[in-house]
Amino acid sequence: MGGLAAAAIALTSAPASALGRDSAVSPQPGQRVVPAGRLSEVSLRDVALLDSRYRQNMERTVAYLRFVDPDRMLHTFRTNVGLPSSAEPLGGWEAPDVQLRGHSTGHLLSGLAFAAANTGDADLAAKSRYLVAELATCQAASPAAGYTSGYLSAFPEEAFVGIEAGRNFWAPYYTIHKILAGLVDQYVHLQNEQALTVAEGIASWVDARMTPLADDHRQRVLKIEFGGMNESLADLYAITKNPDHLRLAQLFDEAVFYDPLAEGRDVLSGRHANTDIPKAVGAVAEYVATGDTRYRKIASFFWDQVVHHHSYVIGGNSNAEFFGEPDQVASFLGENSCENCNSYNMIKLSRRLFLLDPSRSDYMDYIEWTLLNQMLGEQDPDSEHGFVTYYTGLSATSSRKGKEGLDSAPGSYSSDHDNFSCDHGSGMETHTKFADSIYFTEPDAVWVNLYIPSELRWRDGTLRLRTSYPYDERVVLDVETSGRFAIKLRIPSWVRGRNAAVVKVNGRVEERSTGGSYVTVERSWQRGDRVEVQLPMDVTWLTAPDNPAVQAATYGPLVLAGRMGTDPLPTIPVVDPGTLLPRGGHDYTLDVDGRQVVLSPFLDVHHEHYNVYWAVPPKKQGPKVIASYGFDERDGTAREARRRRADAELVDGAVREPRGGGNAVLLDGAGGHVRLPEGLLSGLQELTVSVWTRVDVLVNNSHVFNFGFNPNSYFFLNVRTGANRARVALKLSGMEREDFIDADGPLPEARWTHVAVTLGPDGGRFYLDGSLRGHNAALQMSPLLLGATQHNYLGKSQSPKHPYLTGAVDDLRIFGRALDDAAVQGLFSGTNGRDR
Ligand SMILES: [Zn+2]
Repeated sequence: MGGLAAAAIALTSAPASALGRDSAVSPQPGQRVVPAGRLSEVSLRDVALLDSRYRQNMERTVAYLRFVDPDRMLHTFRTNVGLPSSAEPLGGWEAPDVQLRGHSTGHLLSGLAFAAANTGDADLAAKSRYLVAELATCQAASPAAGYTSGYLSAFPEEAFVGIEAGRNFWAPYYTIHKILAGLVDQYVHLQNEQALTVAEGIASWVDARMTPLADDHRQRVLKIEFGGMNESLADLYAITKNPDHLRLAQLFDEAVFYDPLAEGRDVLSGRHANTDIPKAVGAVAEYVATGDTRYRKIASFFWDQVVHHHSYVIGGNSNAEFFGEPDQVASFLGENSCENCNSYNMIKLSRRLFLLDPSRSDYMDYIEWTLLNQMLGEQDPDSEHGFVTYYTGLSATSSRKGKEGLDSAPGSYSSDHDNFSCDHGSGMETHTKFADSIYFTEPDAVWVNLYIPSELRWRDGTLRLRTSYPYDERVVLDVETSGRFAIKLRIPSWVRGRNAAVVKVNGRVEERSTGGSYVTVERSWQRGDRVEVQLPMDVTWLTAPDNPAVQAATYGPLVLAGRMGTDPLPTIPVVDPGTLLPRGGHDYTLDVDGRQVVLSPFLDVHHEHYNVYWAVPPKKQGPKVIASYGFDERDGTAREARRRRADAELVDGAVREPRGGGNAVLLDGAGGHVRLPEGLLSGLQELTVSVWTRVDVLVNNSHVFNFGFNPNSYFFLNVRTGANRARVALKLSGMEREDFIDADGPLPEARWTHVAVTLGPDGGRFYLDGSLRGHNAALQMSPLLLGATQHNYLGKSQSPKHPYLTGAVDDLRIFGRALDDAAVQGLFSGTNGRDR
């Protein structure tokens, strides 16, 4: 046994460093320093996965890599250069008439490289060599087919002539990137020299196409999704040291994306997420190649913004593939949130950033959390070939569907030869390289980053990691080598509060630590020494940034999801966290509208509808009057009567107009509106909105008030719909339909009208001049879901398509409960005191 007295234990504290301030270096953007990545990656050959969910997922994907027909994967490459092919054409995104064809063959090269290296399987290596050799033959035939030398693709080169001329084509450089990345992976992991030669040929073709273009012309070409061209070319440079390869990588630096990130500005809203994420990955590769810290700032700022301001609780990002505004989460849900490719690429980005700055354990926390809560679960455990979903939807209507999905609709799984979506492709990579980040090494230290059962070959022996984590709190590391070195163990950031993690060596407690750091155990190790890490798990409810009442239940590192079977919820239900009770195994039950719903770790929920976010009422209800704006001031600022809320602002063409003894707000229909403070309705389970309005010109779809987040999450009053009725509507992104209450006609024109809307336990009521004009007893959406609304207006809609109100507004009051008929009548007739 080793001498415990000699053991030195250090706690590497790793606070999340401020953006742009790296722990190792603090240069200015643009300054050149030699990147000092001190960690070494471990070859996939030196890590073996032991049985676990990770290994089971990998085995299913490897079964697919064995199964998939290489000649079918080569068919369009061959026909593109006039070589014979009798293979049956593929379907889906690889069909001979689909512009993205060829991308999956690139993913296959990467997946085969990872799997062959990691398992040592000779068949996978042979299949790899066959594909590379046949692609080399296709590339060699390019000039005879009339293409530029080095061209290797499954579609004609005219695609590139087209995008240079400003015509549309579906992401041709994206496809080239997948092939180039696959070839680089074949060289790096299997030392296939022919793959390197073919990759260099592609680079020379890129040179011929891109170098002659003027800078602004090239920037226009970069508007079309190009994957990680800069990443793979910079990786190629790292191998060849050919300066042309680095220069070519930098030709793919897109200014409109990089410039604001370098300045620390988040302009991601409305941008296609998986077009952008690989550019940030490429920026790290270019930083490593050049030492230019501007690249590093771009990548690290992007990572921080995406992870902390654009990600859902499972680690994924984007809704319908696009980024939303920062911190919109509960208000930005859908069945097609969280494209799985995005998280594949964010994991890649996290890994590269961690290698540069291992004090940032949050990069590794992100990888673990996203693997557990999104990537493992994207794969159908009942599919022998590891089929995956395209998105991981997070609205209450979301599902992981049947066993064979033949399209890329939300929630359906991919298939053998008829899907080939981008996510089918990145799935071939995700599930074959779980071994690539478990360990990193230094000469005298091993970093244990991910608690994935595995065996590392290191020095003259092994380290064996045994655990059922995340279903078990205990991780064991058997040391089967000797000598003096440090073992660094990541304590995940979810370990918090009273329950510290405990690290033991040979049964003796060495260290207690809260999460968000690595514990270092350095000593002279003997074969047979054993390290144990205890990671105490608890149920924790995590809140959405845009609505503290919207929460997800987690247990340790696992997000829990409600199993909804064939009956999806219409929207996020209101629940009491106190009714979440252990059910045995890793499951819980939760009372949802009187029904006992089973919650399981999300990665285990398949072939049914599920729900991840829940509305949790705050303990204390708000005061009766939440806010009251009389608009009697003379300037552009309107004060809340008791200063309980921030001021409102009269914007653009909004001016004062005398009314009674005070003032009202006149709106010009051309941009004039009142901007109310954020979070006006936060935490309310019921409410009343009371406001006076005068509609001077009745225009369809102009709004008296609109409280919300974006065009899909709102609560508004429309003066007139196409059906000639005034309408109150409520919707949260992800709800299939909006809840609404219609009056029996439009708002009156050219006279002051009192409007009141109440939302309460018996539904919603809509009053005009004190009388009830509409009632919906079956509202599906709780006012709780309105939460910390970011855009609250009078006279303006969330949607830029809707006209502004032409008219006037006055005396807005919001109450924290649904007033009854008499109280609403009192508001209208003025007997109800302003600040009651
Ligand atoms: Zn995708």
